[in-house]
Amino acid sequence: MIKLLKRGDKPLPEDNSDAVIQSATDIKERAEMLFRSVDVLLHFLKAFALDFKEINAERYKQEVQELNDLYHSDERSKRIEMHFERQKERILAFIERQRSYVHDKEKELRDIIDLLTKAMANLNVENLEFYRRIHDQGEKMIEISGLDDIKKIKNALKVEVEQMWEMVELKQDQEKRQIQSLANQVHTLQAELAAAKKKSMTDGLTGVYNRHALDHFLAERIDRNRMVHEDFSLMMVDIDNFKQINDKYGHLIGDRVLVALAQKCHGAIRGDDFLARYGGEEFTIILEGTTFRNALKKARTICTSVAAVRYATSEVQKDDYLSMTVSIGMTQFKKGDTPEKLVARADKALYEAKRKGKNCVVGQR
Ligand code: GH3
Ligand code: MG
Ligand code: MG
Repeated sequence: MIKLLKRGDKPLPEDNSDAVIQSATDIKERAEMLFRSVDVLLHFLKAFALDFKEINAERYKQEVQELNDLYHSDERSKRIEMHFERQKERILAFIERQRSYVHDKEKELRDIIDLLTKAMANLNVENLEFYRRIHDQGEKMIEISGLDDIKKIKNALKVEVEQMWEMVELKQDQEKRQIQSLANQVHTLQAELAAAKKKSMTDGLTGVYNRHALDHFLAERIDRNRMVHEDFSLMMVDIDNFKQINDKYGHLIGDRVLVALAQKCHGAIRGDDFLARYGGEEFTIILEGTTFRNALKKARTICTSVAAVRYATSEVQKDDYLSMTVSIGMTQFKKGDTPEKLVARADKALYEAKRKGKNCVVGQR
């Protein structure tokens, strides 16, 4: 035990000089140790601050440094003590600030993890394995709360967010491909639909429109005329004595005659006119923008040109020709006509042409 001399104490006897030297050395060593300890503590105080701008860590470090500089200067200890007393409140305030900042940051990170986990769930990523991994990672990260762990969380989050972006890109790519494939399917279906529609409107044998298409066309055409009147005529073309042709040459030749007549009629009309097989050996033609007179003229042209053609019926027997004639009943659209009325009038005219001896045209106003 070292005993220090106080003022008024009697000096130690001469033979105690070794002990005095020893105690002086002890005191010096202790003072040095204390000095170093304070130095280390000051160093810790400085190192304790994390580099967060938001809590003014730079300023805090500077202040601790100033304290440190003062401590190492030749200033008297009383002044250093006073200075430290002044700084104490500020140091404690900083420690509290840093503690609550870290706490807030930790909460923020937890919220981000939570948000990310939910976002992953909402992404509806088909890769369940990946989703599970993110979820587990999130759980793990919520459990750890140490300051150092926050850095780990940040790094782990960075990796996961990058993976999530990759996944989102992958999904967008997938969706793009799916949309493209759907668009292709839609195109194919549209083409198929158009083909089916065309087929449903076309006569299988002759390739011209069928009765169904005629009904449609006529209804629309008459509707259009209710708004803007434009002349149009309708004719019924019927092969004369077709039954005899069938009987004489057979149904296959009969079919070819039907195709030949369809081609003949098609060749005789304009692009905006309409040709349909009404049924059996009967065709309907709608002539656009024609006067009654011109329609009659056109019907006669068809009638004579059909009669003029001779068709070879056999490759072998080249002198055996087939010819046919048609009778045509023609009428023009009148205000108040329905499709039925219009067709009935043309039919009546056709009947009249047959009655008159066939191979002729009758017009009915
Ligand atoms: P008309 O001069 O009075 O018109 O007499 P027609 O013989 O032409 O008329 P009818 O109604 O007596 O006979 C029509 C014939 O047309 C009967 C039918 O077998 C035939 N026919 C109807 N559709 C087809 C077809 O697609 N192919 C063939 N080869 N014949 C058909
Ligand atoms: Mg007929
Ligand atoms: Mg006939």
